[in-house]
Amino acid sequence: MERDLPADAAELLAGHPPIDLHADTPSLMRLGYDFLRRHRPWLPGAALGWHLDLPRLRQGGFGGVFFGLVTAPVRLGDRVASVERQLGLVERAAAASGGRLERADGAGGFAAAAGRGAVAYAFGLEGAHALEGRLDPLEGWARRGLRYLTVTHFSRNAAGTPRVGLGMRPDDGLTGFGRALVAACEDLGITLDVAHASVRTRADVLAQARRPVIASHAGVAAVHPMWRNLDDDAIRALARTGGVVGVIYGTQFLGGRTADVVAAHLEHLWRVGGEDLPALGSDWDGLILVPRDLRDPTQIGNLVRALLDRRVPARVIGKLLRENVRRVFD
Ligand SMILES: [Zn+2]
Repeated sequence: MERDLPADAAELLAGHPPIDLHADTPSLMRLGYDFLRRHRPWLPGAALGWHLDLPRLRQGGFGGVFFGLVTAPVRLGDRVASVERQLGLVERAAAASGGRLERADGAGGFAAAAGRGAVAYAFGLEGAHALEGRLDPLEGWARRGLRYLTVTHFSRNAAGTPRVGLGMRPDDGLTGFGRALVAACEDLGITLDVAHASVRTRADVLAQARRPVIASHAGVAAVHPMWRNLDDDAIRALARTGGVVGVIYGTQFLGGRTADVVAAHLEHLWRVGGEDLPALGSDWDGLILVPRDLRDPTQIGNLVRALLDRRVPARVIGKLLRENVRRVFD
């Protein structure tokens, strides 16, 4: 925690232990990264990973994290097996954590984990291509903590078209398999995520979904025009579903290199979509460059301070740190 964190910021963090909607740490764990040990980023400016581990989450006062499950956009091996390997890596870390890392699902979800002083985890699957055209793996993965599914990642898949990447044109929207996938996910309590979806795929998911829809890690086009950032119509459409938008910390999405720019995106989501919409979706340990004062969870106080400096009400800050995500997932 920053030394000079004002009392009101510290109080907000203690009262609303933050939940991050998207971190790609399992991709590092596949390479031998030990989630239970403290790390220092190895590239200058904390570029491209080594952002997240349990000691730093706890030092920052975090209550939970959603791990992104990423598989190759082109078929290099069995991607269903790759997902299960990543689930297993996190489960083994939790088992070895002495009760400090535990799965968020079950009766009490994030709230119960917080009551026991643990950091809670859940999973988001990044791209339906990982299913290899199947729906049957979803049920078992949901039991192991899969709580949201990002319909597309960086490639066209059997379900839909990505915002950008391999096969992004033409934009055909959701396929027949995609519509079956949306229905299956909603039946299993897996939330739909349109963070990487094309405009038409996103519209099709929003038209079909009966439960809240999220964008787990995204920026705001009105603050920084960028190919994957959400325009105000998309922000209002997601808000109408009762979903959340997690603001990504990648400087290429933010248009700046400070926690205050993250705060600007969060503030815009609040003003346009209402106080139940904004959330944190760092994408720590993904392929991003991070703000210099938001390099890892120990610096989350800088974001709270920036929000307070912008006169965002404490009630709204508590919601965007934690309570909005809890409302959707607990
Ligand atoms: Zn992503």
